Amino acid sequence: MQITAVYRKLYRQHGPQHWWPGETPFEVMVGAVLTQNTAWSNVEKAIANLRAARLLDAAAIIRTRPARLAKLLTPSGYFNVKARRLRSLCAWYVEQGGFDALSQRDTSRLRSELLALHGIGPETADDILLYAFERPVFVIDAYTRRLFKRLGLIAGDETYEALRAGVERRLARGDDRIALFNEFHALIVAHAKNICRPRPRCEVCCLARTCPATVV
Ligand code: SF4
Repeated sequence: MQITAVYRKLYRQHGPQHWWPGETPFEVMVGAVLTQNTAWSNVEKAIANLRAARLLDAAAIIRTRPARLAKLLTPSGYFNVKARRLRSLCAWYVEQGGFDALSQRDTSRLRSELLALHGIGPETADDILLYAFERPVFVIDAYTRRLFKRLGLIAGDETYEALRAGVERRLARGDDRIALFNEFHALIVAHAKNICRPRPRCEVCCLARTCPATVV
């Protein structure tokens, strides 16, 4: 099956996903750090805590005592770890001049700088690049690996970089790549959470007719 056909079928089944939930690019960045190893509903509670404390601001987060920040992040789990990661991201963000200054950088430099920060791996960096900085970078996560492996599009044990580059190559080039990558990743997450689960619900899957892993 062509990867673009997967996109079209997922879009028909699930409709537009309107990602990423977040009122500002900075809030998207915060969400990308907090969503590591936890459900989005928990991230929403932690972000609500930050908003209520008027801390959805990089400079304000840096000024906040680590223990207080960690307490506000409690709903997102691993709150001490995430507080350190968030402070590191915010320190870089402020030092580099904030969103407008960072937006001037090319994607590969921005990506390298994000990957050099404490606790930012490729998936989080690419979430930030795609959804906060609107760069044409395809996000690979465990859902993408599971779905694409079942569909026979990948072997499943490729490195992150090999998968990302391979998927980007197979998707059409053009002005709408950012919108396509944005929607496709969100659709993969929706499909993997609701249908192509660890125990797949192939009987209601739009890809079942051509999926080699169909179980009916
Ligand atoms: S047919 Fe089944 S295994 Fe294949 S993608 Fe759909 S839910 Fe997953």
